Amino acid sequence: MQGDSSTMRRGKRATAPTATRAPYVTIALAIVAAALLAHFGDASMAPWLMGAAAAALGAAVVLLQTTRFGTSDENSYATAPAALTVRPSDAEVILKARAVELRAEERTKLLDALTDAVILVDAHGETRFANEAAVERFGEENAVLGTRRAFDQFPAHVRRGVLGLAECDDAARRRFEFDWQGDRHAPVVVHATRADSHRQGFVAILIRDVRVEREADRMKTEFVSKASHELRTPLSSLRAYAELVVDREYSNEDEHDRFLRVILSEADRLSRLVDHMLDISRIESGIARADLTDTDVAALCRVCVDEQQGEAKRRGISLALTRTTPGTRVPADGGLLKQVVLNLVSNALKYTPDGGRVEVEVDFDALAREVVVSVRDNGLGIPADALPQLFGKFYRVAGHEKVAKGTGLGLNLCRNIVEEMHGGKIGVDSEVGRGSRFWFAIPAEATLRKAA
Ligand code: ADP
Repeated sequence: MQGDSSTMRRGKRATAPTATRAPYVTIALAIVAAALLAHFGDASMAPWLMGAAAAALGAAVVLLQTTRFGTSDENSYATAPAALTVRPSDAEVILKARAVELRAEERTKLLDALTDAVILVDAHGETRFANEAAVERFGEENAVLGTRRAFDQFPAHVRRGVLGLAECDDAARRRFEFDWQGDRHAPVVVHATRADSHRQGFVAILIRDVRVEREADRMKTEFVSKASHELRTPLSSLRAYAELVVDREYSNEDEHDRFLRVILSEADRLSRLVDHMLDISRIESGIARADLTDTDVAALCRVCVDEQQGEAKRRGISLALTRTTPGTRVPADGGLLKQVVLNLVSNALKYTPDGGRVEVEVDFDALAREVVVSVRDNGLGIPADALPQLFGKFYRVAGHEKVAKGTGLGLNLCRNIVEEMHGGKIGVDSEVGRGSRFWFAIPAEATLRKAA
């Protein structure tokens, strides 16, 4: 951001030095003078002709000097000893000017590529440069450049801070954070930096909209507070039952064993919760990798159904893989997909009364070119107003906590695995009292986004 402000202005082009035309004019004038003297150079020469010749010669000498030694600040050869002077050729001068011009263009392109608004203001708060994001924020370039239009939109304390910087040493900087008012209402961070080396008091101002970062921070804080709350419940239960055992506050062996079983089940719940939290955060942060290989989804569902058969039998629930079609192979991470199916089947069992029915179906949707897995139950069902939040973190349908223990993270993990790691879709249809159908679809072709 340092340097001559003229190079910062948008669209301003450097011009070739006018001195490049001077040698030709010099030669022409010298020829005119010589011709005049040759023809009339004796005592009969008219005074006006003598004067014209003298003027032409004088002009030729002055131009010659200007051309040879230059008069600009950056090229003041006139004062340098002739023997030490290296005079740049015209081509060199043009190349140098073009290089300066290109550097300025590159700088402008770079600044225009930023999504943050950047302006350069002088010591009066007038805009000397505005990148594209700034033009978008503050309005038409012509209306902004050379005016205080942009500067006046900052709150008073920021304006004071920026003008204070204009009087500081080079590279002095300040950071401001506030809510931008008006149309573009949003939290912003503003970085102001003294940005010139010629003591002209220029300050570069960068404005960053931090709404997305703030929202991410808010969600993180919410996640941590919900997670701590969810962790505390099994922990206090563990502690209470462990104390009962240690203090021998049980009346018989059966009660002693029951307390120990509660401790075991709470420890399991705690480790499931921690596992889910870790899995979700690994996927969301992009650390988790999907190992996509050719996977037979129907075979995978059969394994899941078999694994859950013990629990289904214990509850008197009929559990079966009722439909499969050919062509259910997809590029997928078998381990992760199995986690999804197990989660959906175990939920179906949890929220279906004893003696109910759970069915798993695998279809190939030829039109959408995806394999669709459905897990149907004839259990409790889910109220319509709960459906939009069902795949969120720590969400549990009111009243369901009395029916079965859970973490409220299982469906969120399923959604992350299906959508983030396999480029698929997940959803639910449900009716209270009649049951639910949870489904997910995995693309058959590898248009998948692997987690980095
Ligand atoms: P949880 O560990 O609590 O089961 P999930 O994220 O897997 O967590 O599910 C979130 C909530 O969705 C559950 O607490 C339950 O209220 C509801 N739910 C999930 N599956 C079903 C289902 N098959 N039938 C009814 N409600 C369900």
